[in-house]
Amino acid sequence: MRAVQTQEQRTNDELKALAEQAGRDLEDASALEILQWAVDTFGERFCVTSSMEDAVVAHLASRARPGVDVVFLDTGYHFPETIGTRDAVAAVMDVNVITLTPRQTVAEQDAEFGAKLHDRNPDLCCAMRKVKPLEEGLTSYAAWATGLRRDESPTRANTPVVGWDEKRRKVKVSPIARWTQDDVDAYVLEHGVLTNPLLMDGYGSVGCAPCTRRLLEGEDARAGRWSGNAKTECGIH
Ligand code: SF4
Repeated sequence: MRAVQTQEQRTNDELKALAEQAGRDLEDASALEILQWAVDTFGERFCVTSSMEDAVVAHLASRARPGVDVVFLDTGYHFPETIGTRDAVAAVMDVNVITLTPRQTVAEQDAEFGAKLHDRNPDLCCAMRKVKPLEEGLTSYAAWATGLRRDESPTRANTPVVGWDEKRRKVKVSPIARWTQDDVDAYVLEHGVLTNPLLMDGYGSVGCAPCTRRLLEGEDARAGRWSGNAKTECGIH
């Protein structure tokens, strides 16, 4: 009798084909249905990543799998409000918050590369403080969920609800890719979901403090990130 194939036995090619098929099949599914598929398919090898801008995807995922792992990257440069949101999520929601940190503290990085590397070489700063720790933190997972939305910026307009993350060779799930800001606001209101207080203080997107500013009238949600620099993404997406 042929044994049931476990996720561990699936090759990257098989995972990639699975992700691309799911992306087509689930394009019109609800966010909760997409997360339920991810939970049913990957079990403990599935996690949610959160920047703690809000806890919408963490909340949805906890409905699909109570106690789900929620991975947060503590770059050492976060606003106090972001750390406070992380702590509140861990305290009140049925999720397992896992905090990842870079290999170097900010002081150690400053000693080796000089102060304010984020102003001089944000790509290197993001690579060391975001991309590398996430890559290492995701090694035990086969699939991860993000809060990416197509309406956030032109660079995110083609985000699939399920796709293949070639950089990390994992299945990448974006359950609210089709949502608008109005959908997010309605979900937050309906379920009393925790949000970062900075969203009520003029910020459209919340990242590291040195690289995030409030929005000006008419700007898209991510315009306040790396303002004045051509950089639009940290390298994770
Ligand atoms: Fe460094 Fe800015 Fe990237 Fe944060 S967002 S890791 S401070 S460059």
